[in-house]
Amino acid sequence: PGVHPHSADVVVIGAGQAGLSAGYHLRRTGFAPGTGFVILDGDDGPGGAWQHRWPTLRLDRVHGIHDLPGLPFPPADAQRPAAEQVSAYFATYERTFDLPIRRPVRVRAVRSRPDGRLDVHTDHDRWTARALINATGTWTRPFWPHYPGRSSFRGRQLHTADYRGPQEFAGRRVVVVGGGTSAVQLLAEVSTVAAATTWVTRREPRFQEEFGPELGRAAVARVDEAVRAGRPPGSVVGVTGLVLTPEVRELRERGLLNRLPVFDRITPDGVAWADGRFVPADVILWCTGFRAALDHLAPLGLRGPGGGITMDGTRVAADERIHLIGYGPSASTIGANRAGRTAVTEIRALLVPAAALD
Ligand code: FAD
Repeated sequence: PGVHPHSADVVVIGAGQAGLSAGYHLRRTGFAPGTGFVILDGDDGPGGAWQHRWPTLRLDRVHGIHDLPGLPFPPADAQRPAAEQVSAYFATYERTFDLPIRRPVRVRAVRSRPDGRLDVHTDHDRWTARALINATGTWTRPFWPHYPGRSSFRGRQLHTADYRGPQEFAGRRVVVVGGGTSAVQLLAEVSTVAAATTWVTRREPRFQEEFGPELGRAAVARVDEAVRAGRPPGSVVGVTGLVLTPEVRELRERGLLNRLPVFDRITPDGVAWADGRFVPADVILWCTGFRAALDHLAPLGLRGPGGGITMDGTRVAADERIHLIGYGPSASTIGANRAGRTAVTEIRALLVPAAALD
């Protein structure tokens, strides 16, 4: 860590959909690359979390990736992994708009300085900034719920974040945990090769005929309400229910969506319920979601008694220098886009004296 910190008006953390959108709007509104703003990204290459998604995830299986501002997504190829195509698109985007991205640079801690600036400590160097746009997503924080006996299990346990495709489950008995889109998608893939699959969810899954804009808006509004009240965000998809895609309908017809409530404990060779039911298993696949990757903000003490950070739109209610984008209601590609624009508009109003604004 260098003794002399670099300095920028705005530091953006993360170069996924949200961080790139912020970068675009910062450039467009006159922040100079380098002294005006910099984007610090923990990954080795472009793509944000998309570069890590399992190779069998194709673009025809995702909810839809919204274009970044100013450059349309090239015609999609349904046969190629989404990870490859999104990473290639982001790489072109970064070059086209000449965004000042430094990688791999992982931010370890952000602190407030007595002079009103923010100190951004990374695994390479240190930055000071007048404002911070945090766009770190969730991929680096897979959520593993605790169940008794978990460490006694002799088989393999993995999370959605570790999944690379169904091949390794051939002939195995697999328990899939989780009620979200990823759980159902991985269940569909694994069930084509596994000896047996068992699906467990905490709540009875709700199915939706289709994912219309109204449903999306209602879900976003609920998450927005939660974070304005200082509660943890939960996921946007979590409140919409599962969409009955042709793939999901087929799974249901094959009888693979007969879910059980989550087991009460894990044994060395399976999962068990208090009523005496037991399912033998070789693999437990935890499709139990992710949490916002905000550990590096802990020194700022933003988290309140509600367990979350109280938000006012994209701005942290208690600290106008800090915006969280791709967080809570904006944790989708379209939400991340808009949040990037909103955050930049508000930060510009904060940093640039009114007389200088056009
Ligand atoms: P990310 O893409 O996660 O980018 C975060 C970036 O921050 C990464 O590059 C990471 O390296 C960096 N970073 C993290 N921590 C640090 C740190 N401490 N220091 C420096 N850099 C850091 N949304 C949709 O709209 N449509 C879909 O079809 C869709 N499918 C999804 C499928 C899956 C399996 C999942 C998990 C999510 C899906 N989403 C989808 C939601 C998706 O997460 C968002 O849409 C969006 O891609 C997230 O963008 P982001 O910029 O917020 O985060």
